[in-house]
Amino acid sequence: MHGLDHVFAQVAAALGPKALSKKKVLITAGPTYEPIDTVRGVTNQSSGKMGYAVAQAALEAGAEVTLVSGVTALAAPAGVERVDVITAREMHKAVMARAEKADVFISVAAVADFHPVDPKPHKIKRGNGNLNVELAPNPDILGEVAALPKGPFCVGFAAETEDLKANAQAKRKKKGIPLLAANLAHETFGKDTNALTLFDDNGLHELARAPKIVLARQLVAHIAKMLPLR
Ligand code: C5P
Repeated sequence: MHGLDHVFAQVAAALGPKALSKKKVLITAGPTYEPIDTVRGVTNQSSGKMGYAVAQAALEAGAEVTLVSGVTALAAPAGVERVDVITAREMHKAVMARAEKADVFISVAAVADFHPVDPKPHKIKRGNGNLNVELAPNPDILGEVAALPKGPFCVGFAAETEDLKANAQAKRKKKGIPLLAANLAHETFGKDTNALTLFDDNGLHELARAPKIVLARQLVAHIAKMLPLR
C-alpha cells in the first residue's frame, strides 16, 4: 500500500464502518413519461437532481446503490447501478423486481399519476376540435413497496404547493412510511439548492436551504440513525 493510502485506511478504520456500509439502497429519480402518441406525452416536472444527489450520498455512505431513473440529462454517479425506464409502469416493474432484496427504498421520482389508455403508434393530426385523451391511473410504487410484508425501510418525497406540514404528515400516514422528506415545489424545481423538512414518528426536522448534495447527505445520515430502530 502507498504511504498516504495507508494513512487514509487507518483514518477510515478509526472512524468506524460507514453509516450504510453493506446496505442495499434502491432509489427512484426523475420524471416518468407516458406517451399519448409517438411525439407527445404526459409527464411531471422533475430534473432528477435531488434523486441523483441522494444516490451519490448513499454511495458515499458505503451503500450498494441501484438507481431506477426516468429520462433526465444527468449522468449517474460512478459506482451506482442505473436502470433506465420511461413510464411509471416500467418503473414499477423495475422497482418491484428489486424491492425485497433492498434494505432501504428512497422514492424520489416524480411519478405521473396517469397514463393514456390508448397511445397512438403515429403522430395524431391536428384537427379543429378538442382532443380527448383517456387517462388511467398508474400504480402507486411507493405505496406498494411500503405494503410488502418483508419490504425495505421506505422513504418518500413530497413536493407540496401549500400547507407543507399538514399535507406532508397526512401523506406519510396514508402511505404507511416511517420517513417523508417534504419540500415546496416552487423552491426546488430545476434548482441546485433546496430546503427539506423531514417527518418521522418524532415530529419534524428542518434542513435549511443548501445544495441538494448537502441535504442528501443529511437525509442519508437521518436514515442511517433510524435503521437499527425498525
Ligand atoms: O402522493 P404523492 O404522489 O405526492 O407522493 C409522492 C411520493 O410517492 C414520492 O415519494 C413519489 O416518488 C411516490 N410515488 C410513487 N408512485 C406514484 C406516485 C408517487 O412511488 N404513482
